[in-house]
Amino acid sequence: MTALPFLPFALPEIGDDEIAEVVDTLKSGWVTTGPKAKRFEQAFAEFLGQNAEDSQLQCIAVNSATAGLHLALEAIGIGPGDEVITTTHTFTATAEVVRYLGADVKLVDVDPATLNIDIAAIEAAITPRTKAILPVHYAGLAADMLAILDIARRHGLRVVEDAAHALPTTLEKELIGTLGSDATVFSFYANKTMTTGEGGMLVTRNPELAKRARVMRLHGMNRDAFDRFTAKVPSWYYEIVAPGFKYNLTDLAAALGLHQLKRLPAFQKRREQIATRYHEAFADLPVILPPDAPEGDVHSWHLYVLRLAEDAGISRDEFIEGMFAAGIGCSVHYVPLHLHPYWRDRYGLTPEQFPQAQKVFEHTVSLPLYTAMSDADVERVISAVRGLLG
Ligand SMILES: *Cc1c(COP(=O)(O)O)cnc(C)c1O
Repeated sequence: MTALPFLPFALPEIGDDEIAEVVDTLKSGWVTTGPKAKRFEQAFAEFLGQNAEDSQLQCIAVNSATAGLHLALEAIGIGPGDEVITTTHTFTATAEVVRYLGADVKLVDVDPATLNIDIAAIEAAITPRTKAILPVHYAGLAADMLAILDIARRHGLRVVEDAAHALPTTLEKELIGTLGSDATVFSFYANKTMTTGEGGMLVTRNPELAKRARVMRLHGMNRDAFDRFTAKVPSWYYEIVAPGFKYNLTDLAAALGLHQLKRLPAFQKRREQIATRYHEAFADLPVILPPDAPEGDVHSWHLYVLRLAEDAGISRDEFIEGMFAAGIGCSVHYVPLHLHPYWRDRYGLTPEQFPQAQKVFEHTVSLPLYTAMSDADVERVISAVRGLLG
């Protein structure tokens, strides 16, 4: 019997159109931020506006979601002495950007049914220093934004959404990015639901926020006073109004994004198809299946996170080793922030403060789920999982 090749946990799907567009960009002589980055921003706004018919929506392309989150928090004025509430059950990028600005992170537990931020825990964590809530749409299932926006309204807080997993996700039939928070940030990292290699998009309806983020995206350079390339003011002239960052998205990356975005609806369908097949195949196993989106809504299925039952007869770590022995890569999303030395020590955190996220961490495993998987790959994952748990 010939061994099957290793099936990685995640792979991007880059097609001929993406490759041709990158080659075209290379030959155009304009490889950094230019016309394609602009077109990508416009196309993204159109994509989000398809439901909302929303001309106010501004899309600001950046070189990572981390950069976009940093810009959004900077633009709403987060700084030293402020607190931002977020979930412990996330990637460190969600929280590190708060520290970039000298503000503090208030980590809270998750709702065990959705693995999204616990609404009651948000309310309990609010102090006079609290300035913003930073929810994550974990795995691609929308957080309870109606409750979060309601809390924010009642307490005078800002809301920035970490939507790194949530393209295209909907809540009550509205796409994430159009719900009315201060800003929403998407990621185009290699393993996300669409990719530009590295990249992200900051989305907002707030014109002041958008203006500040555009200036801070590129060195604090203000070109808003005039159009640098068409007005009478000489094209070499600019003004620096703040010590900004270097967060612009290149045209090489935008070239990928233009075509990945076109394929996004088909990508989502394929991801959903695989998730549905997994649901069927694992229904009788000692596991808790990941929750679907409510009826009528879209789950982006960035991640398929299986929770092993306490009586599964195998530990999470043994399960991952068993899958690896079968030639299949798995992962864990996430080691919660309260267990990482930096976050633990800075805020004196213990697992007892986050009982749900702690339990989730100990029993969850993310299975391969990506559009480049063949049906045979999916069945191979299923038979390996059933072999270990069936
Ligand atoms: C991937 C990810 C990020 C960071 O995205 P980058 O584009 O790599 O900066 C932030 N938050 C979450 C939840 C993520 O999964």
